[in-house]
Formats: sequence, structure tokens, C-alpha cells
Amino acid sequence: MRDSPNIIVTGTPGVGKTTHCETLAQRTGLRHVSVNQVVKDKECHEGWSDEFQSWIVDEDKLLDSIEEDVKAGGCIIDWHACDLFPRSWIDLVIVLRVNSSTLYDRLTARNYAEAKLQENLDSEIMEVLLQEAREAFEEDIVIELMSNTSDEMESNVDRIVTWVKQWKHDNASDAKRS
Ligand code: ADP
Repeated sequence: MRDSPNIIVTGTPGVGKTTHCETLAQRTGLRHVSVNQVVKDKECHEGWSDEFQSWIVDEDKLLDSIEEDVKAGGCIIDWHACDLFPRSWIDLVIVLRVNSSTLYDRLTARNYAEAKLQENLDSEIMEVLLQEAREAFEEDIVIELMSNTSDEMESNVDRIVTWVKQWKHDNASDAKRS
């Protein structure tokens, strides 16, 4: 039993995962687990793909690298995929969404190549990561939140902070009862 919940924050690149996770970590004391960073630092990959302009991730190695940490609880996992994580590890899945024009501006600011930009815009429009989350986890733990503006981000963070407090309260009661 964990005494702090594990949360995944997922969504298309550029939706605001890192920004949300950093603020959430400050507000809740939970740990921000940036999967991109873990993949690089622990070399959980089979090299760099020029075609996709990203690491080819070795998922088994990645899961082994974070297992101990995540099983202890209190992790905010930041990644653009979620269906590889075992259900038993995860208490809440946040799928961030943005309007196409906002995403276009954010990815252009990152100098994404045209093909990668288009691929990510299509993925957002087709709700690929929302569907992936709904297929991989129980529907009632998957929450879709908009992330176009700082007001939306503030309200998302407030909502998740409240959820974390409630989860801890409920779990503390469970522990006392058992
Ligand atoms: P991701 O981790 O999903 O790739 P980032 O957190 O790096 O996305 O955010 C991409 C860019 O968009 C950053 O410049 C960030 O400041 C901005 N951004 C993210 N979310 C919001 C938001 N809700 N309102 C305004 N700007 C945002």
C-alpha cells in the first residue's frame, strides 16, 4: 500500500505536461518523474531515431528503472505515452489537451520539423493519447483537462492538489480501519 498516490500526466508534446508537473511537484511535495530524462540518464533506449527525432525507448528497461521509485508512491510521471505502465502502479491519469492553433504555435516555437509538427497536430486532433489512456486504465481514473491558458493551468493544478489531499485522507482512513 502506498501512502501517496502516483499520477500520470500525459498528452501530445507541447500540451504543458512539464509545466504542470513542475508546479504540481512544488504544490504537493510529490516527485516529478520526467520519463524523457530517465530515458536519457539511464540509457533506456536503443539509440536515436532520425526519422522520429527521438530516442527509441526500451520500455522494459524503462519500467525496471522506475519500478522501485513508483512502487513507493508519490510520483508524478510525465510522458507522452501511458499504456506501458502497469494499472496497479497508477491512481490517476491526467490527459492534457490543447486547441490546434495553440499547439501549432508552441511546437513552431520549438522549431519542430514540418513532418513532426504535422504528426503531433494530427495526434492531438484525433485524440490519440486520450483514447490510449481510456483503453489502458479504468475510465473513472482518466481525466481530460484543457491547457490553453495559464488560467486553465492554475485551475487544473488546484483541482489535482485537492484530489491528492482527498486521496491521502481516504488512504489514511483505510489504513486506520485495517
Ligand atoms: P510538454 O511537456 O507537454 O511538451 P511544456 O510544459 O514543455 O509541454 O509546455 C510547452 C510550452 O507551452 C511551454 O512554453 C509552456 O510554457 C507553454 N504552456 C504549457 N501549458 C500552458 C498553459 N496552460 N498556458 C500557457 N502556456 C502553456
